[in-house]
Amino acid sequence: MNNKTLAILKPDCVRKNLIGQVISKINEAGFKIKAMKMVHLTKESAGGFYEVHKERPFFNDLIAYMTSGPCVPIALEKDNAVEDFRSLIGATDPSKAAEGTIRKLYAESIEQNIVHGSDSDENAVKEIAHFFSRKELLENYSD
Ligand code: ADP
Ligand code: MG
Repeated sequence: MNNKTLAILKPDCVRKNLIGQVISKINEAGFKIKAMKMVHLTKESAGGFYEVHKERPFFNDLIAYMTSGPCVPIALEKDNAVEDFRSLIGATDPSKAAEGTIRKLYAESIEQNIVHGSDSDENAVKEIAHFFSRKELLENYSD
């Protein structure tokens, strides 16, 4: 079983100086950080990442949001990483997210929802490769 997932601390998280608090929650929940960087996404990169949503009515706004400032992609490792990380972040719409979840605690709206988490093992592998080279991963995946 794949034990990795991709998190992104989205531009609203960075703008609100919540990087530290969100990473604390992630570590407290038992995830190990395997690779991390800060990047300001281009429209092309954000559009490629969210390709599956390109026909959705919110796509253009989503790309504008995700390119509005730097974000922090993080490759995480834990048993059952994908499912456990989705539980930690909560529902897409923070008003529907469970108490104590990252989105419930910090997110403002269904769009500006602080954090991304991969939705399947297959997508986790693809999404990690979107941000991190083989070399960057191998350097940190050795233990
Ligand atoms: P999740 O991030 O929970 O996997 P989706 O994959 O459905 O959610 O959507 C990707 C991102 O697009 C969301 O995290 C959010 O930023 C944005 N989004 C989703 N649904 C809406 C919506 N109805 N209106 C505006 N933005 C949305
Ligand atoms: Mg999704």
